[in-house]
Amino acid sequence: MQNEIRVRFAPSPTGDPHLGSIRTALFNWLFAQQNNGKFILRIEDTDQSRKQHNSDQKMITALKWLGLDWDEGPYYQSKRLKKYHTAIDTLIKNNKAYRCYCSPERLDNLRKQNSKNHDKKFIGYDKLCRKNSNLETSKPHVVRFAMPETGKTIFNDIVRNEVSFQNELSEDFIILKSDNFPTYHLANVVDDNDMKISHVFRAEEWLPSTPKHINLYNALGYPIPKYGHLPMLLSSDRTKLSKRHGATSIIDLINIGYIPIGLINFLALLGWSLDDKTEIFQTEELIKNFDIHDLTKSGAVVDYEKLSWINGYHIRSLEPDSLAKQIYEFWELNPPKNFDTSPTMEETKKIVPLIQNRIKILSEISEYIGFYFKKSIDYTIEELIQKGMDLQSTKIALEASKNALNSITKFDSVSIETSLRNTAIELQIKPGQLLSTLRVSLTGQKISPSLFEIIELNGLDKTIERINISIEKMTT
Ligand code: GLU
Ligand code: ZN
Repeated sequence: MQNEIRVRFAPSPTGDPHLGSIRTALFNWLFAQQNNGKFILRIEDTDQSRKQHNSDQKMITALKWLGLDWDEGPYYQSKRLKKYHTAIDTLIKNNKAYRCYCSPERLDNLRKQNSKNHDKKFIGYDKLCRKNSNLETSKPHVVRFAMPETGKTIFNDIVRNEVSFQNELSEDFIILKSDNFPTYHLANVVDDNDMKISHVFRAEEWLPSTPKHINLYNALGYPIPKYGHLPMLLSSDRTKLSKRHGATSIIDLINIGYIPIGLINFLALLGWSLDDKTEIFQTEELIKNFDIHDLTKSGAVVDYEKLSWINGYHIRSLEPDSLAKQIYEFWELNPPKNFDTSPTMEETKKIVPLIQNRIKILSEISEYIGFYFKKSIDYTIEELIQKGMDLQSTKIALEASKNALNSITKFDSVSIETSLRNTAIELQIKPGQLLSTLRVSLTGQKISPSLFEIIELNGLDKTIERINISIEKMTT
């Protein structure tokens, strides 16, 4: 079908999946969804020296986790070498590319000379082998593309509008390396043509490569796709985003406890906005409203506080069962250090109402709820005894609480609250004094969800057992 929208995400497996890469994937994915198009995943693994084991698998896992599903692929460039060699042969035959036999020493000397003389016109390789055609294919060589030496390459970028480059400023770049693997430029162009890519949306760092690609398209007689270069990601001090400013690997962000829709929502706003005020989007709303023609040209600042705020908002809006499922899966991958037991799905469902409105990221849950998954809890007698109380009055208060709780007919947080507030009145102490003692006795934590919900969650038996342990502690 002609005019079909086909976009691709083409990561190089050179490290952990980066926030910026995922933003590129998301924008391509949204564009495909909006246009009834195809989203293609292609792993650009022709750089053998920079390849990292498992990097492709991590990317695939992250995309699946985010729900950015693809229609075709993953294609691996390392399995498509024949296609690249055919294209390179054609280029050589048509004098659009040539073999270069220059030694690394010669190129190194050139580079040194280059940096000394500041003649702006002389860029990189001096084209020695372009003039002397040498056909000794057995000698070690690379293949270089013969860039046009005059004129301009002009294209209309969807984000940056008209972009113009002077051809003489681009060197005769390498398209086939001495290890017989093509370079990124060549493989990228051959594949985008082969896969009938209609639009290329990629990071701004690739903008300077685009004239190279366009000249390759022309030399190979391929139609040129439309381009859009996405604004750079910046840190809060407006320097290029790096690990120093916060986690940039999507794997790290997943392990911190961001949820898929939180990250998707946040990433969509890096370079795009609907208006000045709307910050919260569900995926369907993004598909409806996102507009690739509306991106900013200037860099997009990654604000981690905003990410947490957006994530917290989505956590609060989730159906409790869906949140429970995400927490359960999160804990499976990141078992909390302060838990003695592995939470079951049933237990996870039970704690959701206690924490849903209190957290921004899933890793915060374990400190709130650790008491529930611990065999025994740790605290000192001093922590049990509140201001204005002593050992004796604290023991009496704990005994009275036991009696009160034992006589509740419907053991829910509302009745628990009424009964304990009455107990404080009867003992003539402040509710805060009684409740703080119980909080320590039942959780060993200074911060926790509502005490009454905790008691309901723990149930009568476990509650009485923990109060008894406190009483014993004070008796010996
Ligand atoms: N492999 C390149 C990267 O890792 C792809 C750039 C492009 O989309 O053309 O970013
Ligand atoms: Zn040469």
